[in-house]
Amino acid sequence: MFEFEVLGTDPSSAARVGRFHTPHGLVETPAFMPVGTCATIKGLTADQVKATGSQMILANTYHLLLRPGPQTVAALGGVHATMAWDGPILTDSGGYQVFSLADLRDISDEGVTFRSHIDGSRVELTPERAIAVQEALGADVIMQLDECPPHDAGRAVVAEAVRRSAAWAARCRAAQRRDDQALFAIQQGGVDPELRAESARRIVELDLPGYAIGGLSVGEGHDAMMRVLDAADGQFPRKKPRYLMGVGEPRDLLGAIARGVDLFDCVMPTRNGRNAMAYTWSGSLKLRNAAHAGDARPLEEDCPCLACRRYSRGTIRHLFMAREMLGPTLLSLHNLTFFARFTAAIRAAIAEGTFGEQTDRWLAALYGGKAR
Ligand SMILES: [Zn+2]
Repeated sequence: MFEFEVLGTDPSSAARVGRFHTPHGLVETPAFMPVGTCATIKGLTADQVKATGSQMILANTYHLLLRPGPQTVAALGGVHATMAWDGPILTDSGGYQVFSLADLRDISDEGVTFRSHIDGSRVELTPERAIAVQEALGADVIMQLDECPPHDAGRAVVAEAVRRSAAWAARCRAAQRRDDQALFAIQQGGVDPELRAESARRIVELDLPGYAIGGLSVGEGHDAMMRVLDAADGQFPRKKPRYLMGVGEPRDLLGAIARGVDLFDCVMPTRNGRNAMAYTWSGSLKLRNAAHAGDARPLEEDCPCLACRRYSRGTIRHLFMAREMLGPTLLSLHNLTFFARFTAAIRAAIAEGTFGEQTDRWLAALYGGKAR
């Protein structure tokens, strides 16, 4: 039901193109997954998301656990029906939001108890509950519960999170009842090479269908992230998909793909879109800038998205200045289209053996100019 095929590799890096087969279809990798936090990609219909070229989307277990609740999602036909998305879906375990959003009361080897950020009620999340909730939601890929320490945590705290997360991965595997969901384990270890290696060793032993790299993009910076990822290709089996959680900056994507990562998710394209920022191949545009007011050009000449085909930069700026809801929708559409085209171009470059030189060209274009 799940199969990962490596179709080609880059001669000068660990980059690879592949195909990840899921019960709801195929994902060509490397791929970027838009985030539908509350079972919706904010401001877009599922058909609009599909039209951006996005292949697989993500929903947040923490948010769905609290509202509307896993049994309600199950009653609605599962997360695919709830999101009106018939393609592949990944749910996280809820762990990341418990550690970043909730008023955390207690963490032990058993699990975490936290207060809901919605109504203050006490909620317990154990590895077993994280799996039960994700089985009720019914995504194609589900994630283990892990402990995500803050990026400035001391070594002892990070080491404890590595040990605990690996033990929780084993409990998640033992708790899994459905056989139509692929469980991914998550590597922790902060920016410490030894702890990263230990974490990878412990979770790879479990022989799960995929591995995620967690605990990055939490403020450590690009160079520190890349130093951690330098070891990834040797730490994880080549025949399984690797997923770098929460990473969406184009520079980070390129660096991670060169180090053998296949899957990414991030709220940035949609969140930045809602904040009037458009990604383009020649750097980002800030649509509230007065310079765009009378500009009749599209965001990008060759972009096939609805925003670029039918609306000008000037119109989109006006929509944001007037606080019209169409502005965030148009830029979310455009930005997801940009990420889908960007990853498609990366796949093509890896397949052609030109990924290294193309990366240099893309980085110069993306980051060489000044903010517009
Ligand atoms: Zn566009």
